[in-house]
Amino acid sequence: MAPGPVEELNPPQRTLLGPGPSDVDPRVLRAMSAPILGYLDPEFIKIMDGVAEMLREVFGTADAFTLPVSGTGSAGMEAALANLLEPGDVAMVVENGYFGLRLSEIASRHGAEVVTVPVEWGQTASPEAVEAELKKHPKVKLLAAVHAETSTGVLQPLKALAKLAHDHDALFLADTVTSLGGSPVDFDAIDIDFAYSATQKCLGSPPGMSPVAIGPRALEVIKNRKEKPRTWYLDLGLLLQYWAGGTRVYHHTAPMSMIYALRESLRLVLQEGLEVRFARHRKNGRALRAGLEALGLKLLVPEDRCTYQLTSVFIPDGIEDGPLRRRLLDEYHIEVGGGLGQFGGSMWRIGLMGESSTASNVLTLLSALETLLPESGFEVAGGAGVSAASQSLAAD
Ligand SMILES: *Cc1c(COP(=O)(O)O)cnc(C)c1O
Repeated sequence: MAPGPVEELNPPQRTLLGPGPSDVDPRVLRAMSAPILGYLDPEFIKIMDGVAEMLREVFGTADAFTLPVSGTGSAGMEAALANLLEPGDVAMVVENGYFGLRLSEIASRHGAEVVTVPVEWGQTASPEAVEAELKKHPKVKLLAAVHAETSTGVLQPLKALAKLAHDHDALFLADTVTSLGGSPVDFDAIDIDFAYSATQKCLGSPPGMSPVAIGPRALEVIKNRKEKPRTWYLDLGLLLQYWAGGTRVYHHTAPMSMIYALRESLRLVLQEGLEVRFARHRKNGRALRAGLEALGLKLLVPEDRCTYQLTSVFIPDGIEDGPLRRRLLDEYHIEVGGGLGQFGGSMWRIGLMGESSTASNVLTLLSALETLLPESGFEVAGGAGVSAASQSLAAD
C-alpha cells in the first residue's frame, strides 16, 4: 500500500497527572469502537437513557434531568449560563480562581449584569462575604460557584452557598467539572439547581462531553424564559426534547462514540462504587501531599480546604518550570500541569483524577522528582518523598 501523506498516527503512552485530561481505561477506549447507530435508533435511545440514569446516580440526584451536552466542560458552563440567564439579569459569581473568571466572562457575554465576589486564590469563599453581597444586590437571579477549583486545588463547600441563594430567591449553579466522580457532589442533598461537569477529569472518559444536571427550579426558569436563549446549539429546552420524554425529537446528531465512552466510564465508576472511589482519591491525594512536603516543597492549599484530585505546589526557587516539566514528559512520560492565570510559572498542578489516581502513579512521580529536582539544583533528601507517601498509604 502506498504511504499516506503523513505517517501513521502513533501518539506516545503518557501518564496524565495534570489538570485533565486524565488516563482512560482500555474498556472505555474499546467502547468507542462499537458500531455507530442512528440518532433515533431505539437501541441508541436505550443507551442514552442508561447514561442519563447513571449520571443521576453519580450527581446524587433522584429525579433531576441529566444529559451530556456535546462539547467539553466549558460547553456545559455556557449551556447553564445561556439558558438560565436573560439579558439584563443579575448573576453573582464567586471568583476564587480561573474558572470563576470564566463563569463571569460567559455570563456577561450572554447579556447578564455580573456581580463578583472576589476571593483570594487558594481560599474558599465565606458564606458571610457572599451573604453581604446578596444583601447589597437584591435582584440576583443566579449565584454560581466552582466546587473544585482546578486552578488552585481548593474544594469550596457548597451547602451554605446554596441555602443563601435560595434564601434570596436565586438559583444555585455549581461547576462540578473536577469534583464529579472524585468527591461527593450530592446534588439533591445540597439542593443545587444546576450542575455541569466534564468527562475527562474524574469520570475517566476522553474529553468531549459535558454532563449536566438540571433541578426543578432551573427547569422552570428554562421553560418560562421571556426570550429564546441566544445559543441554538446549547438550547437546553430543545436538547431535553431529544434526551427525555416519550417522543424524541432530533436536535443535533449525538456524538455516539463519545456517549459509548461515557457510558462505559460511568459503569466503571459505579462498579467501583462512589464511596470507594472517593476514598481512593482521598488516599492517593493525601499520599502525594505527604510526599511533596517531605521533599521540602510548599503546597498552596492546606488539607482542610483541599481537593484531593488536584494539588497545587509552588515551584521551588531556582527551578525553571518549563525544562523540568519537559524532562518529566520526555524521560518519565508523565504530564503535570503548569500554573494558570496569576500562578503561571510559579506553580505546578498535579492531578490525580479518575484512573490516574493510583498509588503507583504517586510513587513514580515522587521518585522522578527525587531524581530531577537535585539535578536542577534543588537538594532533596533522597527517598524522603517516596517514603513519606508510602507511610501515608499504609496508614490510610
Ligand atoms: C477543566 C475545567 C473546566 C473547563 O472544562 P473544559 O473541558 O476544558 O472545557 C471548567 N471548570 C473547571 C473547574 C475545570 O477544571
